[in-house]
Amino acid sequence: MPERVVITGGAGFIGSHLCARFLNVGYEVVCIDNLSTGSKDNIASFLDRPDFFFIKHDVTEYIYVDGPVDLVLHFASPASPADYLDLPIQTLKVGSLGTHKAMGLAKAKSARFLLASTSEIYGNPLQHPQSEEYFGNVNPVGLRGVYDESKRFAEAMVMAYHRNHGVSTRIARIFNTYGPNMRLDDGRVLPNFFSQALQKKALTIYGDGSQTRSFCFISDIVEGIFRLCRTEYHDPVNLGNPEEISIKDLAEMIVNLTGTGAEIAINHPLPDGDPQVRKPDISRAMDVLGWKPVVGREDGLKITLDYFKKKVSEIH
Ligand code: UDP
Repeated sequence: MPERVVITGGAGFIGSHLCARFLNVGYEVVCIDNLSTGSKDNIASFLDRPDFFFIKHDVTEYIYVDGPVDLVLHFASPASPADYLDLPIQTLKVGSLGTHKAMGLAKAKSARFLLASTSEIYGNPLQHPQSEEYFGNVNPVGLRGVYDESKRFAEAMVMAYHRNHGVSTRIARIFNTYGPNMRLDDGRVLPNFFSQALQKKALTIYGDGSQTRSFCFISDIVEGIFRLCRTEYHDPVNLGNPEEISIKDLAEMIVNLTGTGAEIAINHPLPDGDPQVRKPDISRAMDVLGWKPVVGREDGLKITLDYFKKKVSEIH
């Protein structure tokens, strides 16, 4: 019998890559998504496979899955700032009620569980880089609070199910990730910059562009998640690429890479609570998983450029 994995948010950016990865190693994959921010395009190539099942469902409601389940990966959530500002209540619900339902499924099926958590746990961090011991600097009533607090609640829920019900759980704190299957209009910095540069529009830098992020290519994140699933490590693990870059330097890199000579326009309004710095300390992932990112920024961005070129050509 092949192992069966349930992936909530399986039609989303990271979720769809996880579907591919688990199918490739012989799992049956049950993908659950309400398609609020995910897309069927991301899973179109799997839909006819006998080892792939798609259930259109909102995981804040009771989750019914027929048959055995060995692993539950809870990835359902709006995850880009623009999306969770558009869907604040849905974001709070999927982190709280959705995590509860996904945990309930794992408990009922005696399945292992992994939560997609986030670097937003650390808020606008006062510790740099961020290690898992850092408790964060989050404003619960700021605009980002809906995502940050729902994920913080989700982590608490997961640890409670682990401690009180003995469910075998894992928590991946995922930092900025990029690559194919991102939505062109998801509002995040890389889709925006690629979309703008390829259409010769000015790149919109929010604030002065001195804020930093550390971007990890999708295949590295998927590998980290895959390895974490195979451990019995229950405390949170940061997954991300520690190569840090300012948003202004990133904009210049995208302009050069696309070769379109697009302009860069600084000082668009900086969103409320936008973290000034972000960079993962990945010592724990290196120790526990023997993992570190292997795809450099330039290589990852080139692959992503090809993907966005295609997406931009589809809108014209
Ligand atoms: N950003 C920007 N221009 C854009 C989109 C984003 O300057 O068109 C900035 C944003 O203010 C933040 C960084 O890029 O400082 C990363 O933003 P993103 O929305 O990708 O995600 P975040 O890391 O803030 O969750």
